[in-house]
Amino acid sequence: DQPLPKNKHWQALELASHEICLSDKKAFAENFKHIEKESNELEPHTVLVQSVGKQKVVVNPPFPVMGEQEIDAVFDLPYTRLPHPKYAKRGPIPAYEMIRHSINLHRGCFGGCSFCTISAHQGKFVASRSLKSILKEAEAITRMPDFKGYISDLGGPSANMYKMQGKDLSICAKCKRASCIYPSVCFNLNIDHQPLIDLYQAVSRLPGVKKAFVSSGIRYDLLLTADKAKDRQYGLSKYLEELVRHHVSGRLKVAPEHTSERVLRIMRKPSFKFFLQLKKKFEAINRKFGLNQQLIPYFISSHPGSTLEDMAELAATTKKLGFQLEQVQDFTPTPMTVATVIYYSGYHPYTLQPVYTAHSIDEKTEQNRFFFWYKKENRSWIIRKLSELHRPDLLKILLAERRQAQKNPPKNARKRH
Ligand code: SF4
Repeated sequence: DQPLPKNKHWQALELASHEICLSDKKAFAENFKHIEKESNELEPHTVLVQSVGKQKVVVNPPFPVMGEQEIDAVFDLPYTRLPHPKYAKRGPIPAYEMIRHSINLHRGCFGGCSFCTISAHQGKFVASRSLKSILKEAEAITRMPDFKGYISDLGGPSANMYKMQGKDLSICAKCKRASCIYPSVCFNLNIDHQPLIDLYQAVSRLPGVKKAFVSSGIRYDLLLTADKAKDRQYGLSKYLEELVRHHVSGRLKVAPEHTSERVLRIMRKPSFKFFLQLKKKFEAINRKFGLNQQLIPYFISSHPGSTLEDMAELAATTKKLGFQLEQVQDFTPTPMTVATVIYYSGYHPYTLQPVYTAHSIDEKTEQNRFFFWYKKENRSWIIRKLSELHRPDLLKILLAERRQAQKNPPKNARKRH
């Protein structure tokens, strides 16, 4: 019965109680909309309150975004760059091997993908380190005894958001969008890629560095525009060229995630048309510089909204493009995401409309199986499923003699959050 502590700068927002949520999944879904909106504020000032029995859960507003000095101070601490000594006798740790020579350039992501939890724990606004702090870390890596000259990643939650933020922060302060780039790139977002190009080049010039790779995923929709002046102004094609020529270790991994526009909307991912544009540009850069880099697309099956027929279409579309997919995953609900709220409640938290989601092991296995249309053991299953779905057109594509497919090498490790 005690009153909540007061702060004159904050306001309180009462969510549907725990008990209501237990009996009403729509109320639970709606709660999430408020939680996400409040966690994406530039100047957070709302206290979330939820009753649980006779008690109340109080969630204070998140801390404001770190400034350059603050984030530098965090990254400049004297880390050992080693796993905890308690693992010393256990042999190599795969996750550590992947990151031991990598550098994190920034925190935060303004992509707002429905299945990703990054914005819930790092925020929508990007905090970027200074060039000086990054170079200092790169130099420290060159002094590591096992360093052979290859920085494995100059990255972040999304590789190409370094130093990006709203041009006019007073507009951002009033903004409630979950993503600065979906459904389209915000007019107020500064997407200048020149600081990132300068950074890649500065790290590459350091004594002892043979190559500095970028293995975190890029948001390619940021790089594609029909507006030539904008492309020049923000160094978009220039960035892609720099990336493909000098910072890709044979394979550029990108995440279109699906081919269905309806599913992509639920994912808050750009239209598949952007992937097709990227592919064209990527191939042109390869031709121009006599390179043989591969483009590796990642996809998810069973994401909320995705049906078996959507997966069959995905298989046919990617096959027609010459891909033989292996780097794929089935949707795993991650706490604090729109997708997981849909998975659990059956409702989209923003529209409160029902959304179909594959739940059972059988449904999920079947969706995933369409990725592997090229395996002999799936042939008769595909024939049966596509005749049940009345899609002889897809059957014709999937069973046709396949073109020279771009096979994703199985060892290609995924970096996901
Ligand atoms: S105004 Fe634009 S750039 Fe600023 S936070 Fe909103 S969507 Fe992002």
